[in-house]
Amino acid sequence: MTAGPYTLRGVSLGGVYTSLACPELGILFDAGMPLRSLATMDTILLSHGHVDHVGSLPALLGIRALHGKTRPPRVFMPAEIVDDLTTALRSLTKLQHWPLEIEAIGMTAGEERELRGDLRIKAVQTFHPVPSLAYVITRRVSKLKPEFHGLAGPEIAARRRAGEQMLEHEERAELAYVTDTLISAFDHGPELFAPRVLIMECTFLDARKSREAARAGCHIHLDEVIERADKFTNETIVMMHFSQLYRPDEVAKILDARVPPDLRRRIIPFVPDTTQWPG
Ligand SMILES: [Zn+2]
Ligand SMILES: [Zn+2]
Repeated sequence: MTAGPYTLRGVSLGGVYTSLACPELGILFDAGMPLRSLATMDTILLSHGHVDHVGSLPALLGIRALHGKTRPPRVFMPAEIVDDLTTALRSLTKLQHWPLEIEAIGMTAGEERELRGDLRIKAVQTFHPVPSLAYVITRRVSKLKPEFHGLAGPEIAARRRAGEQMLEHEERAELAYVTDTLISAFDHGPELFAPRVLIMECTFLDARKSREAARAGCHIHLDEVIERADKFTNETIVMMHFSQLYRPDEVAKILDARVPPDLRRRIIPFVPDTTQWPG
C-alpha cells in the first residue's frame, strides 16, 4: 500500500504475524513472517520479543544468504532482549551449519541513533508484558532562515557563495511504528501523535472484545483511539495488527461506522484485498 510518500509491503495479523517493509526508508518493521521480498532489507526494527514479531528472523536471515547478502543486517531492539535473541540465533546457527548473524543494537526509551544519511531513529516507551519499544524515524531537513524568505533566488545563491549562513536545520518526524502496547504509549509519548505517517496497532475494533479485555492483553482498542481522535495530527495513519475476530473485509466497514470523519479519512487499514487473512 501507499502511505503518504512511502510504500508499505508485508502482512500483519494480531498474535499471528507482523512484518512490514518500507523500501524508501530501507527498513523492515518486525520479523513475523519470512516473506522473500522483505529479506533484503538491511535495517530491521524489532518492537519486542513475541514470536509473532521476531519468530521469522532466522528464516529471513536464511533467505538473505540465498540472495547472496553476506553482511549481517542491523537489528534495533529493546536492550533487554539482545542477549536472548543472540543466544537463540547462536543455537539456530548450529542447526543451520551457517552463520545466522545480525548486528544487534539495543535501544532504551528516549535514546536516539543515526540510521543513515539524514535519517535518525528514536525509541519511545510502549507498554506490553515484555520489554517493548515504539520507534520514530526523523529526517534532518535544511531550509532557508525566515529572515531571508523575501530574497530572490540569484541573491540567495550569491550570498551563500559568499559564505553567509542562510540555512537552518530541523528534525522532521517522518514515520512512527507503534505496536503491541497499551494506548498509554501515546499519553506518555504525545510525540507519537505527530509524525507524518503513523503505523499503529489497533488489535480490537468493537464490542466483540471489551476495552478491559484488550487492556488485559496490553493491546489497543478502537474505543481508546476514538476518545483521542482530536489528538492525532498525523497525515496518514496505517492501522494494523487486527485480531482474527475480524475478517479483512470487515475492518474498513467497522472503521467507517465508528470513527469520526476527520480521523477516518486519514486511516488506511493494513488488510489484504480478500475475505481471508493470508495463510
Ligand atoms: Zn503482536
Ligand atoms: Zn506482543
